[in-house]
Amino acid sequence: MDKTSVKISFFGAAKGVTGSSFLLKVRGKKILIDCGLFQGLEHEKNRLPFPCQLKDISYLILTHAHVDHCGRIPCLVREGFKGKVVGTKPTLQLAKIMLLDAAKVMREHYKTLYKKSKRKGLEPPLPPIYDEFDVVESFKYFQIETSYDKPIILSQERLKITFKDAGHILGSSFLEIEDLETKKKILFSGDLGNKNKPIVNDYTYPSPDADFVLIETTYGDRDHKPFEETKQEFLQVILETFKRGGNVLIPTFALERAQELLFVLREFYDNGLLPPCYIFLDSPLAIKATRIFLDNPEYFDEETLKVFRQKDPFNLPNLYMTEDIEESKAINNIKSMAIIIAGNGTLSGGRILHHLKYNLWREECSIVFVGFQPKGTLGRKLVDGEKTVHLFGEEIPVRAEIHTINGFSSHAGQKELKEWLFTLQNPERIFLVHGEEEKMLIFKQAIKEKFPEEKIYIPTLMEEVPLY
Ligand SMILES: [Zn+2]
Repeated sequence: MDKTSVKISFFGAAKGVTGSSFLLKVRGKKILIDCGLFQGLEHEKNRLPFPCQLKDISYLILTHAHVDHCGRIPCLVREGFKGKVVGTKPTLQLAKIMLLDAAKVMREHYKTLYKKSKRKGLEPPLPPIYDEFDVVESFKYFQIETSYDKPIILSQERLKITFKDAGHILGSSFLEIEDLETKKKILFSGDLGNKNKPIVNDYTYPSPDADFVLIETTYGDRDHKPFEETKQEFLQVILETFKRGGNVLIPTFALERAQELLFVLREFYDNGLLPPCYIFLDSPLAIKATRIFLDNPEYFDEETLKVFRQKDPFNLPNLYMTEDIEESKAINNIKSMAIIIAGNGTLSGGRILHHLKYNLWREECSIVFVGFQPKGTLGRKLVDGEKTVHLFGEEIPVRAEIHTINGFSSHAGQKELKEWLFTLQNPERIFLVHGEEEKMLIFKQAIKEKFPEEKIYIPTLMEEVPLY
């Protein structure tokens, strides 16, 4: 074992957007940064074993609670991890509900595939990669709660880790890891946020003297519209759909986006901009996440805190939170003047599929995408203009208007990624991660104005790179 060097391995989010996980080997000691689920076309990679001994990983540091950053923790624990999971309070709270939900979704998906295989006389599907028991078992390791700008020292590894506000979702962080032996600094961007969004603060900036950086590049190729414009665009779609006599369906992620949508709808309502209508938050997970948000107001930005001091920023009188499945089914009887927010955000499962069945073929309705649609998902197919889709064994024509409102993204656009990265004076190496390769190449071009090309590197999956 090499007792002097520091190396990094890319266990996920290498030339891809999902499965974030990086192993840092520091003089023979190991820590893992994130342990995300591969999603969409990459989901088969979840079955690959972790390519190292897990029992000697002493810490798993979580940047935030999205499943593509924490969703493989139950596998990690089952395969031998005995270390401590570290994250901010909202990250640990939210990660728990996200993992329980992931297990439930996998179990339901398996049941569907199993029935199908029986019916068609095919090989049975592979069982889910974990179940609720594995998830609850993994909670034992959720041991260190931290907060922004209060460094923690890992004494064995001789590392100082500072969590800094990444402005992406509640409790999200980027990490500054300082090697106390060599004074070298390594930055992990986690996911960086889109500026001027409600609920969370804008991202903070890294120390200019960082030596190595891993930066996400989800939107490395483009800028988002300013948030004010985005809100107007959203309101227009709602008003026009209601004028046509239809419903507005919003497939959404339960975490952050759902709360943002509620925040914005409440604002419209307070300003008298919404006509009388029904609003449904039809997602038990989003409802749970909203409660966790209300439990962590110290992570809100000033604007949200101001509202919070007077009332619930995520509630309005015509909002119905439907936890019960029968209540959810009842929504199908409503033909117009309803805004239906339901999971999941990429249409790969969840209650939104039932609502699509009742609304997608109606030209008076609108489907509004407010998040990134990875390749291989039904969401991407609709965004790419597919004319018919298969739902519950039926072919459904796509007649509803399909809108993509990118300004809702919780990810920094190219301009913001550059601004954050350009804070660094003279890094030795910049690793581009968490992005589709073609977007990374565009981002690489965009940052060449400040950093020489030979310092910018796009790692491949499972690659190990020595840092120093
Ligand atoms: Zn994220």
